[in-house]
Amino acid sequence: MELRLYDTLSREKRTFVPLDPNNVRMYVCGPTVYDFAHIGNARPVIVFDVLFRLLRHLYGEAHVKYVRNITDVDDKINDRAARDFPGLPLNEAIRKVTEETGRQFHADVDALGALRPSVEPRATEHIAEMREIIERLVKGGFAYVAEDHVLFSPQAMNAANSSLPRYGALSNRSLDEMVAGARVDIAPYKKGNTDFVLWKPSKSGEPSWPSPAGITAEGRPGWHIECSAMAWKHLGEHFDVHGGGIDLVFPHHENEVAQSCCAFHRERMANYWMHNGFLQVESEKMSKSLGNFITIHELLKDWPGEVLRLNMLKTHYRSPIDWTMKSLEESAKTLDDWYRVAADVEPGKPAASVVEPLLDDLNTSLAIAALHSLRGSNVHALAGSLGLLGFLSESAAQWEGRKQQASGVDAKEVERLIAERTAARSRKDFGESDRIRDVLVAMGVAIKDSKEGTTWEVVR
Ligand code: AMP
Ligand code: ZN
Repeated sequence: MELRLYDTLSREKRTFVPLDPNNVRMYVCGPTVYDFAHIGNARPVIVFDVLFRLLRHLYGEAHVKYVRNITDVDDKINDRAARDFPGLPLNEAIRKVTEETGRQFHADVDALGALRPSVEPRATEHIAEMREIIERLVKGGFAYVAEDHVLFSPQAMNAANSSLPRYGALSNRSLDEMVAGARVDIAPYKKGNTDFVLWKPSKSGEPSWPSPAGITAEGRPGWHIECSAMAWKHLGEHFDVHGGGIDLVFPHHENEVAQSCCAFHRERMANYWMHNGFLQVESEKMSKSLGNFITIHELLKDWPGEVLRLNMLKTHYRSPIDWTMKSLEESAKTLDDWYRVAADVEPGKPAASVVEPLLDDLNTSLAIAALHSLRGSNVHALAGSLGLLGFLSESAAQWEGRKQQASGVDAKEVERLIAERTAARSRKDFGESDRIRDVLVAMGVAIKDSKEGTTWEVVR
């Protein structure tokens, strides 16, 4: 069976045909590093990790290149640096903020079972490529210099008599309507009200680099140009998949397409544009003011990363997801069970019943239903399929041990109580054995008696 992916640009599922099966290329917009990532940010990380794993499964590990950038130049970073390190020169403070946040991001996404991308470029290391694209855009008549800014003109792009895509095609908007609906109080240096910034002057003390297009003052890049530059450097002018959350379709991805296609005279930047739906928490939009803003870091204190991963993948990536405590508890139970039956068996080949739904635009909810069926029929295939999806990174004993640690249960004490209870039962002192069972239950430990003896587990 072939892989089919939903493409936001053509608004349909299409068979995936890589430009080069020996070098399948995917770009996903990464984090702006100024604060802990929230659980919504984990969605593209997990979803595109599944796609990365599936592509490696289909084309071979050495034949897939996954690029996810780190945005380390941004106003939010500057503000955070000034707030957190008021005594330091701004550039030093910025380095502290981006290094620390980048480290936290890695710790979080590693715990979620996400493979590291092949390349994680940083925006500040690609200023030369950004300048080069900007120069090309100015020379081609798509961008202009005004008051030390460089601006891109969507109207110039759509007026060009060429095989360029139409500005607005990705987000299904009409430029005329955007022009009519745009704010009137636009910055005075903009010729058109939909023109967007490629480069701008830096304020004093802010990070700055030599400017392109003959501007003498130093400056810094706009956000959209960063991704065009990093994708170009690492994947070339035209590549296979570009992904991110649905909120990035406009303006970020629309502008990326505009910049890259106009600079390289291409009809396309990526062949498949993929966007994950939004995550909300207990039926409400996540926001700092509502107090329901949860970071991955906080959740990882209560739940193993694989529980968060499973909970995310139960919903198809294009649907909105409602993140609830109830669903998390169910995901935890499911994983406890899978660890018990499948973590220590020899993994078999991933089952066709799991791979096929994944080939149909990453239908992880159907794939998970198939995992439940495999549990009763083929634990080796269950183990192999869970491995493909990024689960079972630990042994059953490690998993159980971590749970006990998290719940504060002292395993030695549990074993001692169970031995006491066994002794009580053998002298037929059932009052005492029931009392000990109640003590264990109060500790959050459930026991099970069988011919082989008594086993126990921590119940959440
Ligand atoms: P940002 O740091 O806001 O640029 O977001 C990083 C990535 O997370 C982007 O791909 C966003 O689309 C995605 N994202 C942000 N918030 C959510 C959310 N609530 N649900 C799903 N994806 C999100
Ligand atoms: Zn981007």
